[in-house]
Amino acid sequence: MAHVKLHIPGPVEVSEKTFKALCTPMIGHRGQGFKDLYAKIQPQLQQLLYTKQLAYLSTSSAWGVMEGAVRNLVQKKVLNCMCGAFSDKWFDVSKKCGKQAEALQVDWGSPIRAEAVDKKLATGGFDALTLIHNETSTGTMSPLAEIAALKRKYPDVTFIVDAVSSMSAVPIKFDELGIDVLLAGTQKAFALPPGLAVFVASPAALAKAATAKDRGYYFDFVEFQKNAEQSMTPSTPSIPHVYALSSKLDEFFAEGLENRFARHKKTNQLTRDWAAKHGFTLYPEKGFESITLTCVNNGAKPGGRTMDVAKLQKLVKDQGFLIDGGYGKIKGLTFRLSNMGDETEATMNQLYAALDKAMTSL
Ligand SMILES: *Cc1c(COP(=O)(O)O)cnc(C)c1O
Repeated sequence: MAHVKLHIPGPVEVSEKTFKALCTPMIGHRGQGFKDLYAKIQPQLQQLLYTKQLAYLSTSSAWGVMEGAVRNLVQKKVLNCMCGAFSDKWFDVSKKCGKQAEALQVDWGSPIRAEAVDKKLATGGFDALTLIHNETSTGTMSPLAEIAALKRKYPDVTFIVDAVSSMSAVPIKFDELGIDVLLAGTQKAFALPPGLAVFVASPAALAKAATAKDRGYYFDFVEFQKNAEQSMTPSTPSIPHVYALSSKLDEFFAEGLENRFARHKKTNQLTRDWAAKHGFTLYPEKGFESITLTCVNNGAKPGGRTMDVAKLQKLVKDQGFLIDGGYGKIKGLTFRLSNMGDETEATMNQLYAALDKAMTSL
């Protein structure tokens, strides 16, 4: 059967080149070959994340590190900032880890605002917060810099940030932001196959993690740091993914980070233009739209046209493209188009042409 190209917001389309890198012959994870591989990647990840901290490689999906961050870094009470399916779930995960947790819930499609976070933190009792930079379910980007600025007012609160669907597509300057944890799964904007997560932690977060008695082993941040200092991981990593990441990072720097960021901005604008051309509005609040995916409003909110999303999906799938039909409670009432990964103006134009053709029958 012919391959259907992925334009869902993760996992995204993986290139032949990346698949080839994944198939590099195996090496041992305690040998010099692996250490050399990790040591080569390390400065690239540090440059990508604008940090002097060591970047860690976790063989897990993003949720492994998201849960791990809660286990390592919540001792009193965590504030879970919630504005969509993934950020809402982090609240449940915190409770499942046995932590005291409080919700800062805003309507789906709205971003998390610094004023609201400030108000909650001012009530006291919190020693950590979780925030999703780019809420993929609603295509909404929260103002990370404004929220991170609160760290100066609340230095004892550990800021844990999920950048799963934005890392590498937009600049996120870890050290400058002053946040404590930044994490991403690599099947989104990095365009690797699922199975590897990347994260960094501040010295304060590592010191705090060292005092957590029940932080477990697999996602023990202290173990990640100790091992990273030796260019190793705590347990056997998915070495194929590390080869693929190395190949991908070379591509990032061959393109140039600024060019990469600009490319995502451009292809995202083209998607928004496509939606507007067909009379659709966007689901996120104006000014907070994601730049790695577009969540198109299809009746979830007043305004704009609506049509049969399942039919649209089928019509574009028949032309070789997979798009997303909306997530969770806004399934069918929105649809999502991803411009993450390797997509260029030329490849996005192929998607718009398929969508245009589909729209003539809707
Ligand atoms: C996809 C996604 C996740 C979950 O990632 P997994 O790799 O499935 O664990 C978490 N947060 C955001 C913002 C996501 O887009």
